[in-house]
Amino acid sequence: MTRNPRFDVLFEPVRIGPVTAPNRFYQVPHASGMTNSLPHVRASFRETKAEGGWGVVCTGAVSIHPSSDDSPLPFGILWDDKDVRAHALMTDAVHRHGSLAGIELWHGGACSLNRTSRIAPLSPSGMPWLSTHLGFQGNLRPRAMDRSDIGDLLRWQAEGARRARSAGFDIIYVYAGMGYLPYEFLLPEYNRRTDEYGGSIENRTRLVREMLEVTREAVGDTCAVALRVSLEELRGRPGTSAPSEAHEVVALLSDLPDLWDVKMDSSPTDCAPSRFSGEGSHEPIIDFVKKVTKKPVVGVGRFTSPDVMVSQIKRGVLDLIGGARPSIADPFLPKKIDEGREHEIRECIGCNICISSWHDGVPVRCTQNPTAGEEWRRGWHPERFTPAASDASVLIVGGGPSGLECAVTLARRGYRVTIADSANDFGGRLRFETRLPGLAAWGRVTDWRLGQLRGKSNVNLYPNSDLGVDDVLGLEHRHVVIATGARWTRMLYATIEFPTEEFDGPRVYTPDDLAAGVVPEGPVAVFDFDNYYLASAIAEQLAQRVGDVSYVTTAGHASAWTLMTNELPLIHRALVKAGVKIHTLQRVAGFDGTEIALADVFSGTQKRLPCRSLVVVGVRTPRDELYRSLIARGADLERSGIETVARIGDAYAPGAIVHAVHSGHRFAREFELNPAPAPYTRDYPV
Ligand code: ADP
Ligand code: SF4
Repeated sequence: MTRNPRFDVLFEPVRIGPVTAPNRFYQVPHASGMTNSLPHVRASFRETKAEGGWGVVCTGAVSIHPSSDDSPLPFGILWDDKDVRAHALMTDAVHRHGSLAGIELWHGGACSLNRTSRIAPLSPSGMPWLSTHLGFQGNLRPRAMDRSDIGDLLRWQAEGARRARSAGFDIIYVYAGMGYLPYEFLLPEYNRRTDEYGGSIENRTRLVREMLEVTREAVGDTCAVALRVSLEELRGRPGTSAPSEAHEVVALLSDLPDLWDVKMDSSPTDCAPSRFSGEGSHEPIIDFVKKVTKKPVVGVGRFTSPDVMVSQIKRGVLDLIGGARPSIADPFLPKKIDEGREHEIRECIGCNICISSWHDGVPVRCTQNPTAGEEWRRGWHPERFTPAASDASVLIVGGGPSGLECAVTLARRGYRVTIADSANDFGGRLRFETRLPGLAAWGRVTDWRLGQLRGKSNVNLYPNSDLGVDDVLGLEHRHVVIATGARWTRMLYATIEFPTEEFDGPRVYTPDDLAAGVVPEGPVAVFDFDNYYLASAIAEQLAQRVGDVSYVTTAGHASAWTLMTNELPLIHRALVKAGVKIHTLQRVAGFDGTEIALADVFSGTQKRLPCRSLVVVGVRTPRDELYRSLIARGADLERSGIETVARIGDAYAPGAIVHAVHSGHRFAREFELNPAPAPYTRDYPV
């Protein structure tokens, strides 16, 4: 297939100072969870994107000095010459595919709490950067920088830039975004200095200007100098000589950097979850930048549609299409557009599991792309597969995320695959969940996989097929994979943090009942100790349908775990807006059909609320009866020619969709490999 000429503009080279990007696909700096102690994992992860056609591939944040220490969150380091080799592995890998390599040099200022280095954090005026969330709180307060500290910072940036050049990077960043040190100087309420670095907008911009100048002086003859800046807060502040302070900052620095990389200020708006924002959500903030500078501009917006990308270029919003999540979900996105296969793009669903990996301190995981982070340690390439080891046919029972992913991967290896589901459509849990407020984009998990399976000669799809033991025995497949998912239970929550017995009573429901069409009678209490997205999405929907909804959780916040995915503040806001009453740190102690008793998880103090229906979103157990029945029939299996029966996904161990997809993929990757692969290869520092 050949490229649609409509998309030609995306493949034009773009000059960035002394270097040239081969096309407009620009993987902006993003966290990967891959520190200097995982250099091969990191290099392979970034290389795969270069191979997939991203013309520029950048690192995540790379600290320039031990006073910028985010631990236990993962970050790269370039503190001395010994760190150069670890980064050179990545630049070599990216250059092998003709792409440019960029490095985001980073100083976190008051935002990095220096838990390991124990150096007092640096800040413009000694003000702490205060987080709402425990994981980002610390007790070592920052100190105000004096002139010699500013001199040190400029020296660290210049030394970092020189080391980055010797590591082979083509684009070197000054990073003035998201609460980090140079950004801290831009905000007047936070920068309370009275010297030439505080006060007027010219003074507040001075540090960024000097960082750009020292970077250019250090490496600007051979490397491009990029400025990454957050503009959301500044855009909201009227300027004295321009519509906003954001306009003024860009005008003041206009042609000093070779490239503007523009973004939002906080993780929930910058890496915005699809539940609350669509594609291109940054545009209203950054749309003016190209009018103020002559230098190329890159920005993001979870772009997966080539038409939207072309529109960004043609309307003069961006010169380069920035991608972080779309490049994780599909490292081969540019190649697919180039080869006229844009319908094959595995589109990011905006779930932010990738960012949760960073918050967890581990290498990146992705719901859509199970190979992300596994390129080196498991040898999984997103587009290359070990050919089938035999002509065996495989029956997969259950067409949810795990079954579908398993089918796609087995089919790509060349196996004959039959996938059956009792429902009239595929998608498993997503059939219900994508109908909840904001979750429609998650349907891409199903859509992409069905798109891959439909029309393949080695694949049979059977919806409306509820298979029992005898059905499976009667079908002539040598291997059976059970992907029948999990069911939600009515277990409640014990005082010492594990589930109690199943709770029985009138109008006690689970998400499975709602999926089957039950509409609970109000007032409704939704009791959540699953702590991820589902209970809050159900509460939001019931508030629209039933009216009187209380959301009860044992945790301190609604959907507490979604702190990890940037959704938490937005979920809280959505529940308040929907009129849902939020009860935190409470467990359900009883329900008689008219009232619910809640007990404070720490003090035990009880309160009662009027309640006609209770929806429990707590614990799931595997729906694995079919598996158990089959393995109990050893002789029958043998007679039917069935050699293996396996379980994957939620039927094996219930979890988030990301884990189900990974489980299905791993089974298919490792199917009939001899010898069976080790769990994974451990990386080592260089
Ligand atoms: P996972 O997340 O592991 O993929 P899901 O719960 O999303 O699990 O999907 C499991 C799918 O299995 C559901 O679509 C369900 O309809 C299907 N299923 C369960 N039992 C059977 C069965 N006996 N025969 C066919 N399909 C089944
Ligand atoms: Fe997109 Fe979710 Fe993958 Fe992140 S984890 S890249 S948000 S699909």
